[in-house]
Amino acid sequence: MSDKKINLLGYSLESLEAFFNDIGEPKFRAKQFIKWVHQKGILDFSQMTDFNKILREKLELIACLRTPMIEKVYKSPEGTIKYLVKLESGSMIEMVRIPEKKRMTLCISSQAGCALQCTFCATGAQGFETNLTPDEIIGQLWLANFYQDDEPPITNVVFMGMGEPLLNFEPVIESAKIMKEQLAYGLSRKRITISTSGITPQIDRLCDEIDVSLAISLHAPTNELRDEIVPINKKYPISNLINSCNSYLKKYDGKRSITIEYILIDGINDSEELARKLAKLLSNISCKINLIPFNPFEGSNYKRSETKAIENFKKILMDKGFITTLRVTRGDAIDGACGQLVGKLNKSIKSKKLISHKLIS
Ligand code: SAH
Ligand code: SF4
Repeated sequence: MSDKKINLLGYSLESLEAFFNDIGEPKFRAKQFIKWVHQKGILDFSQMTDFNKILREKLELIACLRTPMIEKVYKSPEGTIKYLVKLESGSMIEMVRIPEKKRMTLCISSQAGCALQCTFCATGAQGFETNLTPDEIIGQLWLANFYQDDEPPITNVVFMGMGEPLLNFEPVIESAKIMKEQLAYGLSRKRITISTSGITPQIDRLCDEIDVSLAISLHAPTNELRDEIVPINKKYPISNLINSCNSYLKKYDGKRSITIEYILIDGINDSEELARKLAKLLSNISCKINLIPFNPFEGSNYKRSETKAIENFKKILMDKGFITTLRVTRGDAIDGACGQLVGKLNKSIKSKKLISHKLIS
């Protein structure tokens, strides 16, 4: 049965070398294999022409190469494309292709849903469903590069879709290894960003495992406010987070910078006083700050900050010497921020269930 077969899509070069060794093949098979799959986009063993027939048949018997399924594609007028992707388990995730001047960024998911319940997040509102496997994570990049011939290849990947990547640590690392591998996607560490709400023990482990860029979803400069909007802060408060940022930077001899993400929600975290507190908190951290206007979604009472408040907030940070960027809000028409599509879908499924339930009872 195909279900018993090993899905080799999510195997890094290292893991493939171990796999081919186990089946009595030389090490170089792993290099040939990873190139077929992640450079040429081939998922059919019979097309791997530098493998002999016996090996191809052996692979057919014990292994498979399966990606998740693209269920729907939504294109925004600005060029952002959002994909609704179905996992084998039936869970839905999202990925977003974001064209920029010189980059084509893919925002990918690491979990279906999320347990952390940040109050501004559509994914958090859905609760946790499941961790993605390495093949489901790298499968998103594979689909974005090979599923649609008419789209240019992805140059950058951000783990800013659904889920908390550092709570699905090993699969995220395994898939990031494939992204970095020269014989696969060959993305440099600058082109892969892991965004976290602040799981500090895992931030501390990250650079022992892999060298990628780090983004911290801070969103508030005080524990009082952060406890409220990013509840995981109660477990890992701001002082722990700052310590982890410092030790990350120290491990790279101060040659790195961290991206600090700060969502701007009207009347909640966008005052001038909080901007000054944020500047003070980050004064000794090598970072750039990315301000993100809140993207409204059904069921949330929050509003995007006024333009004036956004400008003031940004100016205070810039005057204090921080490189500060404002994320352009794109894809509102297609429920831009991750989790919003799936959120809607689940809602409509729930209400349909409700309707049919009502009809039956
Ligand atoms: N769990 C990780 C990564 C996924 S969320 C994390 O929290 O960092 C990635 C980013 O999505 C968050 O930093 C947040 O800035 C953004 N986000 C979530 N909900 C949003 C919304 N409603 N509007 C705008 N950005 C949102
Ligand atoms: Fe989870 Fe990130 Fe959303 Fe918070 S912002 S609920 S950590 S996905």
